[in-house]
Amino acid sequence: NVRSAPGTSQSQLTPGVKNIVLVGAGKGGVGKSTVAINLAIGLARSGAKVGILDADIYGPSVPILTGLDRKPESKDGARLEPLEAHGIKVMSIGFLIDPDQALIWRGPMVTSALVQLLRDVNWGELDYLVLDLPPGTGDVPLTLAQNVRAAGVVLVSTPQDLALADVIRAKLMFDKVNIPVLGIVENMSSFICPHCRQETQVFSHGGARAAAEKMGIRFLGEIPLDLAVREGGDAGVPIVAGQPEGPQAQAFLAMARNV
Ligand code: ADP
Repeated sequence: NVRSAPGTSQSQLTPGVKNIVLVGAGKGGVGKSTVAINLAIGLARSGAKVGILDADIYGPSVPILTGLDRKPESKDGARLEPLEAHGIKVMSIGFLIDPDQALIWRGPMVTSALVQLLRDVNWGELDYLVLDLPPGTGDVPLTLAQNVRAAGVVLVSTPQDLALADVIRAKLMFDKVNIPVLGIVENMSSFICPHCRQETQVFSHGGARAAAEKMGIRFLGEIPLDLAVREGGDAGVPIVAGQPEGPQAQAFLAMARNV
């Protein structure tokens, strides 16, 4: 539990940041960024000072998720000022570079760009910096995870077997670099038809909880597959900010309390 170990992730790269919480996934498209942004806003709603760093170099989605598309500026000529949305500080690799360019960068260039985003951004004092990792178990998430002293990583998976196989690989990768896995979130868990309210298990259900039990890690909660989650994200107003009292936001908030 991150809260029981304040300060453990304090990194020299980010001296004012008490806890760096990584959000990772075995593969892309499972809702990692959606979970990361709603987690960050949820932590801020509980009174913490929070920032999010979108390090998903190959598909930065935080600009869309927050509706921000300005270039960050520098006040002191040395460090960039993070932008702000929904009560959190926001920085994305997508504010600074064209993702098509990043695609042809080699690993070391990617890593140094991401380290700069930690070190050369004026994060100020934060209780939590949520770091949206690139998906998968390749060199970039691994090197990045090793470069920040993270309190731990939240793994996001969808319930079907294929996604779960990838999340198990991700868990083994983080074990190897001694980063505690804070738990697994099952995203797109079940679908409730907005017309007839019938529940459908589009991608099956319960697999992440079972995988968590098998691996001896915590299960952090289930997030439903819901149109409002997608619409909120696309509109730059994530569900936890836009409809905090609704059942979808409550699922994210329950997950955030478990982290
Ligand atoms: P990743 O970061 O893993 O690539 P994203 O967070 O960008 O995934 O999500 C991929 C797409 O799925 C986005 O369009 C997002 O709005 C949508 N999405 C994610 N989670 C949900 C959910 N629980 N319900 C509905 N749509 C979702």
